[in-house]
Amino acid sequence: MTRSGETCTFCGRSSRDVNMLINGLSGAICDECAQQAYEIVKEQTPPSRSPFGLNQKELPKPEDIKKFLDQYVIGQDDAKRYLSVSVYNHYKRLLQKVSTDDVEIEKSNIIMVGATGTGKTLLARTIAKLLHVPFSIVDATVLTEAGYVGEDIESILTRLLQAADYDVEAAQRGIVFIDEIDKIARKSDNPSITRDVSGEGVQQGLLKLLEGSVVNVPPQGGRKHPEQKMIAVDTKNILFICGGAFDGIEKKIAQRLNTRMVGYAANKETNQVDKNNLLQYITPTDLKAFGLIPEIIGRLPILTYLSPLDRETLRNILTEPKNSIIKQYIKLFEMDGIKLSFEKDVYEFIVDKALEFKLGARGLRSIVEAIMMDAMYSMPSQNKTLLRVTLAYAQDKFDKSDRNRLLIA
Ligand code: ADP
Repeated sequence: MTRSGETCTFCGRSSRDVNMLINGLSGAICDECAQQAYEIVKEQTPPSRSPFGLNQKELPKPEDIKKFLDQYVIGQDDAKRYLSVSVYNHYKRLLQKVSTDDVEIEKSNIIMVGATGTGKTLLARTIAKLLHVPFSIVDATVLTEAGYVGEDIESILTRLLQAADYDVEAAQRGIVFIDEIDKIARKSDNPSITRDVSGEGVQQGLLKLLEGSVVNVPPQGGRKHPEQKMIAVDTKNILFICGGAFDGIEKKIAQRLNTRMVGYAANKETNQVDKNNLLQYITPTDLKAFGLIPEIIGRLPILTYLSPLDRETLRNILTEPKNSIIKQYIKLFEMDGIKLSFEKDVYEFIVDKALEFKLGARGLRSIVEAIMMDAMYSMPSQNKTLLRVTLAYAQDKFDKSDRNRLLIA
């Protein structure tokens, strides 16, 4: 009789008849059986998953994506729809099998145009939250052509690598939000830009990132230098979302709309143009007139806009989002055992002030902060369990606060 350790428990062959016998606690397995077992396990594993952990069935549909965005971002329906569809298509593209029919889905990078503080960054950030992919924000204003003071274009990817904990695979399917893309517009076409360093060179540099190529990235960012070890990152599957305020672009849109109307639609019944929100009529032509080079525009095929925030939207931003400013303050106080509540008039007051100081949504937080500062300072050491913020209380605290601090919000 052969002892355990000398025969394979699975096929019964002895150690002399196999290449290798691996011993376990109460049995052994030969190399061939181990190989077979591996094949069985592989076969039984659920259908292949995409690189980002989703298969086509689990991929959130555009309507689901929009619903998710609705929980965090108020209004901006057009931008949400565009984003939802292009993000969905982007990830479908990643899921596509090697095609035999030569139909290759192209990347759908996005450009969002809208005044500062209308929710561009918030939208991009929320999308990344939904998809659980690495996300980074870069400011186009710090980018300069090689040779100038500033950061190399490649440093855009440094942030993404950092967000992915230097997991290159993960970074390669992440989302990069490039803010203030309008600041690298060509100067000659746009006299309002005072930056000296040619924006066009930076745009050229950006091109290769947007279209997809393997880029050597300095792991610590900044300027590349010869001794630095580089990390190669393929941008083919990275989704780029660009955002910019494009100050003054409304004029170009209006001009274009005017000429069109005078041209061939002057006598006809034309659709009324909403002069308060001209951005909704934006086309790639306007971006070109503003100073983006056609190649860049071509690499950002999805163009959408954000509307200015009106009174009602500001009011909703205060309380409606899942992590709205008011909900955050209530939670902060709750942690000290204090039940915080607000009179409805206080919300109107906060919105009034945000409009008065032209602070937009960003100002809402600083105004609430100004009102709540005293209470946040003294209440944790008192034994009170209730704070009801009345209009009189809010007005009083706001009037005593330092307005200058609000203006730099
Ligand atoms: P942008 O990128 O357009 O300059 P942000 O997305 O950074 O603006 O918005 C600034 C802040 O204002 C956000 O953190 C958010 O609190 C608030 N905010 C702006 N727009 C909205 C919106 N539509 N819905 C909810 N909050 C918003």
